[in-house]
Amino acid sequence: MSTTPPVDAAERQQAQAIVCYNVESVPRRAASFIEAWRAELTVVDTVVVPPRDAATFKVPAGHGFRIVSVEGSQVGDLNLWNANDLSERFFSGKTRQLHASHVTRGDRLWTNLPGMRPMATITHDTLEWYGWDADGGGVHDVIGTRCDPYTNRVLNGVDYHHCCHSNLTRAMAVELGLPAAEVEPLIHDVLNVFMCTGFTLDTHQYFMKASPVRPGDFIEFIADIDLLGALSSCPGGNCGSTHSDDKTPCYPLHIEIVKPSQAVLAEFKAEPINAYDRTHGIK
Ligand SMILES: [Zn+2]
Repeated sequence: MSTTPPVDAAERQQAQAIVCYNVESVPRRAASFIEAWRAELTVVDTVVVPPRDAATFKVPAGHGFRIVSVEGSQVGDLNLWNANDLSERFFSGKTRQLHASHVTRGDRLWTNLPGMRPMATITHDTLEWYGWDADGGGVHDVIGTRCDPYTNRVLNGVDYHHCCHSNLTRAMAVELGLPAAEVEPLIHDVLNVFMCTGFTLDTHQYFMKASPVRPGDFIEFIADIDLLGALSSCPGGNCGSTHSDDKTPCYPLHIEIVKPSQAVLAEFKAEPINAYDRTHGIK
């Protein structure tokens, strides 16, 4: 061992663990509103995400979207932006701190600073039953980033062009009509939809295991603001073996854009940007 533990090492390690944020203060959408919102949903559009590829979609504030498993067990990597200002985007790190390493019904997806507000609220999750397994794993994580060709190059010494990072980049290049190099910086850390992951209990290393998702399962969100989204159907398939190659069976995913009743839409209020004054103590 390179360091010598102090005499009170055990005592120091036994300090009480405290949840960092006062999560009771996180503003949530009222259960009664979500119930009314869900009561009369109409599917107004369906976007197909081909395997080992990505697609973009738009959701007006107050509408919603579902990511649906079809044909086979498949994991998706989700990016979200404020449709009116692409510099405001999903902030997986803050979402993790405010909720947990994995998200489910009732949790919200937050945007980066300085907007820092809820951008989507999870209203239904057919995999909510999974909870935490004996390995410490859970579903829909905000701890992994996304598979990418740079890490693959470092670890395997080859170029692979259908990692989620590249799929999302290609989809956004088409959406915005810009070269890949220009849109690549927009791609950010994802919500790993349907992916089953955790940290090993002994060495705390990021692990994945075969996703419990099956055709018909879905996760559903209200758009708290106007959204532009991009979803990649991961080359890892159900992420039960390898990724960043063409060996694993992969399946499409569907994105259903849903609309609530006019009465509910009339009542809906989009989330305002964060109220902090941004002076940072400078007078
Ligand atoms: Zn991936």
